[in-house]
Amino acid sequence: MPALRRQVAAVTAVLALSVTAGAVSTPAFADKDRDPQKLSTATGYGGAVSTVDLDASAAAIKILRAGGNAADAAVAAAATLGVTEPYSAGLGGGGYFVFYDATTGDVGTIDGRETAPETMPANVFTNPATNKPYPFAELVSSGVSVGVPGTPATWERALERWGTLDLDEALEPAIGVARDGFVVDETFRQQTLDNKVRFSAFTPTRSLFLPDGDAPAVGSVFRNPDLADTYGLIAREGLDAFYGGELAEEMAATVQAPPKDPAWVPPASAPTASIPAFPGHLTTADLAGYRTLDQDPTHVEYRGYDVYGMAPSSSGGTTVGEALNILETFNLKEMRQPDKTNPAALHHYLEASALAFADRGRYLGDPAFVDVPTGALTDPVFGKERSCQLNPGTAATKPVAAGDVDSYDGVCPVAPAVAAHETDTENISTTNLTVADQWGNVVEYTLTIEQTGGSGIVVPGRGFLLNNELTDFSYDSTNPADPNRIEPGKRPRSSMSPTIILEDGRPFLALGSPGGSTIITTVLQTILNRVDLGMTVAEAIAAPRAAQRNTANVTAEPEFITAYGTQLAPYGHKLVPAGDAFTSAAEIGAATAIEFGKHGFMTAAAEPARRGGGSAMVVSPSR
Ligand code: GLU
Repeated sequence: MPALRRQVAAVTAVLALSVTAGAVSTPAFADKDRDPQKLSTATGYGGAVSTVDLDASAAAIKILRAGGNAADAAVAAAATLGVTEPYSAGLGGGGYFVFYDATTGDVGTIDGRETAPETMPANVFTNPATNKPYPFAELVSSGVSVGVPGTPATWERALERWGTLDLDEALEPAIGVARDGFVVDETFRQQTLDNKVRFSAFTPTRSLFLPDGDAPAVGSVFRNPDLADTYGLIAREGLDAFYGGELAEEMAATVQAPPKDPAWVPPASAPTASIPAFPGHLTTADLAGYRTLDQDPTHVEYRGYDVYGMAPSSSGGTTVGEALNILETFNLKEMRQPDKTNPAALHHYLEASALAFADRGRYLGDPAFVDVPTGALTDPVFGKERSCQLNPGTAATKPVAAGDVDSYDGVCPVAPAVAAHETDTENISTTNLTVADQWGNVVEYTLTIEQTGGSGIVVPGRGFLLNNELTDFSYDSTNPADPNRIEPGKRPRSSMSPTIILEDGRPFLALGSPGGSTIITTVLQTILNRVDLGMTVAEAIAAPRAAQRNTANVTAEPEFITAYGTQLAPYGHKLVPAGDAFTSAAEIGAATAIEFGKHGFMTAAAEPARRGGGSAMVVSPSR
């Protein structure tokens, strides 16, 4: 065993002791090594991590301190988030992993997106009785919305390409947390309550997450021994035990016949709740055939930085990149105001985002099925031409039209060429993490099970939720002009935008966020806050957010409306509070980031307040 692997094994062996002890009541990381506090900013050397969760960040730091690299630590943190953030991410979902390799200077990515089952009919979202799509709320909590999970395969592939550990070693911290438990916080309880009605309809979900008919109490210790066993199975037998064998058979059976309690009736609090739990089409062949994709990142230059993002099937890299190319043609720094309200800069941000979303809606889908013009969308000449549609004094009427990717030369066209439709209102869930190691490798990783609580369906006895990622498709399968129409074997368009920014070939900033299609705006706004508006990375993350996704209104956090509403009104922006029917929070995103300074200095930044605050840690506060 190489020395590095031996060192990490020693750490994980200690954790394994607490696993076998089983009955211990303290959480796995309640030891002297654990950073005691959840801090939203940490500075130092030797490696850093930022996640939404203390246990996940602690898992990454353990691996880094034992000599593991950023890929190892990212997988360990992600697996731990599968325990402590089970409604946002886990084995039953997918995501996008971006890696900066300090040795080669290259940025590489893994597309671990869920795919639609091969034998699924294309009109699967349509009710044959009415010829209309089923109501969204019914589709979400059903087998029909479940795509083939990509997360375990992503972990394996990331370790294979860039890691030093094997999957069993990287899973060890998460197994400890699943077995020994974590302390329930407000966010976990509230997310459980937000899902209480549909969780109560599915027997295994109710037993796991509503143990006494209620969401676990804040301060109690939540254990998930079934998930510890599932991770243990994968650790022992490898990925084949997930994509084949009994577990694959159980996943397929669960999707094809969701375990809904036949005696379930809507509770008095939601008397009209309807959960038909339509059977889905996932098969063992779909699971056996799942593959991650190694992809080149998207790339744009912005203010002298090199910005790398996630290529399609995510719309993140192209949409953030196009908006940056549009904004590159304006001097946002000059728009800064002494009182820091910066309304002109914010107006430009909102309008550039709407233009980029118009092109996202028109052109983005799974490149295995549609010809996605990634080159044009990230071309600065295209961005310059699109910037002609940005009126510095007035908000355009939304939806704005898409640009013409087949014919552009950077000169303002007489009229925009292609009509666009209004986009879009994806749900908000997901989680994101940023990790860097002592050698300068960096990971930005966004992973999800789609909306908070995914499909609401736990695989019986296995301790994890299945995704509802297929609801990221457009529902109308009959519109050939829609690049994101649902089709068998296709990956639904994502908004996930893990982003790594280099300066002169070395990392400057890595960042990402959850939040459905507001992921794109959160990443974009955070970059502008940091690069153009003079904020520190911590301030850039904390600042109030707004999202313009080519819709009539701008979705905004209440703090944003209070701070900027009056100044933005003269431009014609209509700000409405964020939030939807599925969540009680009016927040946008939950970003994580690491900024890289001189001589190995790192600043890890997490949310100070959103989702109850995130956890930033460094390997060593001083040299
Ligand atoms: N399913 C969404 C996407 O892939 C992410 C969900 C979320 O962040 O809420 O873009």
